[in-house]
Amino acid sequence: SEGRALYQVHYESSEGQGSAFYDMVVVTTPLHPSRSNFTFENFEPPIADFPGAFQPSVTSVVHGYLNSSYFGFPDPKLFPFTSILTTDTPDLFFNAMDNICPVNISATFRRKQPQEAAVWRVLSQQPLDKHQLKTLFRSYYSVQVTEWQTYPRYDAAKSLPPIVLHENLFYLSGVEWVASSMEMIAVAAKNVALLAYNRWHQDLEKIDQKDLMHKVKTEL
Ligand SMILES: Cc1cc2nc3c(=O)[nH]c(=O)nc-3n(C[C@H](O)[C@H](O)[C@H](O)COP(=O)(O)OP(=O)(O)OC[C@H]3O[C@@H](n4cnc5c(N)ncnc54)[C@H](O)[C@@H]3O)c2cc1C
Repeated sequence: SEGRALYQVHYESSEGQGSAFYDMVVVTTPLHPSRSNFTFENFEPPIADFPGAFQPSVTSVVHGYLNSSYFGFPDPKLFPFTSILTTDTPDLFFNAMDNICPVNISATFRRKQPQEAAVWRVLSQQPLDKHQLKTLFRSYYSVQVTEWQTYPRYDAAKSLPPIVLHENLFYLSGVEWVASSMEMIAVAAKNVALLAYNRWHQDLEKIDQKDLMHKVKTEL
C-alpha cells in the first residue's frame, strides 16, 4: 500500500498452518534459538538470531517441613521468616526461598505456622539433588521442578540488538539485554508504539528529538 512494504507472516497454531499480510509487525519475544523459532525470509540484509546467552534458573516448588536448624533455628516454632535471600556465595546451592500462598485465598486463609508443612519455592542454578533437598527440608511430600531460560547474561552480548529490523518491522525484546523486567518491557512497548506511529505518519521530527531530555526535565 502506498509503496510501503507488506509483511507476510506464516504461522502454525493448534488449528493448523496459516499466513496473512500485515503493514506493520512487532516481534515481542527474544529472537534467540533458546526462546523462539522465528525465521525471516527474503530480507536484504538478512535478519538473523542475535548472539548472546540466557542464564538458566531452576524453580523447585516443595511441599514439606522446613529444616529450620539449617538456618540457625533448632526450634521450628521460632523460625520467623517467610523469605530467605542469599548473597553471591561460592558453593551455595540455592539463591532464594519463599514460603508461597495460593493465588486465590479465602477470607479464613492463614499462613502456615513455621513448624507446619508448607509450600516453598526454591530458586537455584542447578536442579536440587536429594541430599540438598534433605538439607533444606526435614521431610517433604512433593517436589515440582521447572527449568527456565530466565534472563540474559549481560556479559554475553557485545552490543544491543536493533529496534527497527526493517521499515515497519520492529523488535521489542532486545531491551531485555539492558535489563530484563516487566517494567522495562512495558516502557519499550510504549516507545515502539510511538515510534511505529510516527514513522507510519512520517512525523519524523518527533523521532530522536534533540531537545527531548530538556523538555522532559522542564515539562512540570
Ligand atoms: C523465571 C522468571 C522470573 C522473572 N521474574 C521477574 C520479576 O520478578 N519481575 C520482573 O519485572 N520481571 C521478571 N522476569 C522477566 C519478565 O518475565 C520479562 O521481562 C517479561 O515477561 C517480558 O515480557 P514480554 O511480553 O516481552 O515477553 P514474554 O512474557 O516472554 O512473552 C513472549 C511470548 O511470546 C510467545 N512466543 C514465543 N515464540 C513465539 C512464536 N514463534 N509465535 C508466537 N508466540 C511466540 C511466548 O510463548 C510468550 O508467551 C522473570 C522472567 C523469568 C523467566
